[in-house]
Amino acid sequence: LNRRLAEFGTTIFAEMSALAAATGSINLGQGFPDTDGPEEIREAAVRALRDGRGNQYPPGPGVPELRTAVAEHQRRFHGLSFDPDTEVLITAGATEAIAAALLALVEPGDEVIALEPYYDSYAACIAMAGGRRVPVTLRPVDGVYRLDLDELRDAVTDRTRLILLNTPHNPTGTVLGREQLAAIAELAVERDLLVVSDEVYEHLVFDGEHLPIASFPGMRERTITISSAGKTFSFTGWKVGWITAAPALVSAVRSAKQYLTYVSAGPFQYAIAEALRLPDSYFDGLRDELRAKRDLLSTGLTDAGFAVYRPAGTYFVTTDIRPLGESDGFAFCRTLPERCGVVTIPNAVFYDHREQGAPFVRFAFCKRESVLKEAVERLSKLR
Ligand code: PMP
Ligand code: GLN
Repeated sequence: LNRRLAEFGTTIFAEMSALAAATGSINLGQGFPDTDGPEEIREAAVRALRDGRGNQYPPGPGVPELRTAVAEHQRRFHGLSFDPDTEVLITAGATEAIAAALLALVEPGDEVIALEPYYDSYAACIAMAGGRRVPVTLRPVDGVYRLDLDELRDAVTDRTRLILLNTPHNPTGTVLGREQLAAIAELAVERDLLVVSDEVYEHLVFDGEHLPIASFPGMRERTITISSAGKTFSFTGWKVGWITAAPALVSAVRSAKQYLTYVSAGPFQYAIAEALRLPDSYFDGLRDELRAKRDLLSTGLTDAGFAVYRPAGTYFVTTDIRPLGESDGFAFCRTLPERCGVVTIPNAVFYDHREQGAPFVRFAFCKRESVLKEAVERLSKLR
């Protein structure tokens, strides 16, 4: 492994899912639903396969049906208008969108600001692009994670190229509010920065609302918005993602994307085009179901003795293990399968300042109610 990637051996998600399989534990580590997305959308994928739509290389920017559906979705939910031909790019999941955006836009030595704790692929992709990551830490205050805007402002230097934003935020479940986003937008405009905004959990907000930073003054032309079908439609294995941005930015990201995968997932692109047009009741239903699961797991973890940071969005709840008399999240997660048959993720892996993340552990609640109940039952024996 070369020097750029030396510190990124195996992702924590692969490691922990393998541990769950090996020990037969309940896997509340890697964030994927244990129930597949809508039957009618699976049927749409089967139809596309059978009818020969997308079985050969689809167009580089993505099939026109899906690009149009993405543009319609951005207008319907966020009031943003994008030209499907020049301002939408289909990618192999959000993961490729993040990689292609960073590879296309970062010069070696450029600084990239990311909210810490950050999703693991950010650090690896910044490194692959030859950039330097500059973490700005979300800090737990009175039971919620907060972004200190002064710290963010202080992190910007003459070498800063872009801010890599993530709201709703993995792993803390923080949803950035209007005032915070407005301040970030002002900073980006003032310092002439790009923003790459990872909004894969845009439909999973339980308290408050999701606001795309692209909708703030001056941001439409400097934001690359990323989303994905994985979380919104419970098809994490299909790897259909997209970006929306101004033509010059889409064109830049497409240049990198061409040489990463060229194209992907032809038949699934047609199916996701249909999914994006599902009625509001689908999106509301998914959110309400996950809210109930958030509540079930948060309450269960509190009763089991964890200090719980109640998430406003996402699939995840972050907890503090210190009330259980533990302080090392890594050790806790490694021994949890044998102690009680549950797998989780140590938040320290999402930090440069690992000591800051040490006592925190992330649980995924995108699982069937019966599975969550069983997990809570097992965890309640820890005390
Ligand atoms: N960004 C965040 C914040 C995520 O949690 C994930 C994991 N689902 C991704 C990106 C990757 O998305 P995808 O599966 O579409 O590649
Ligand atoms: N996004 C998922 C999570 O945070 C993991 C996806 C992956 O394994 N790359 O758990």
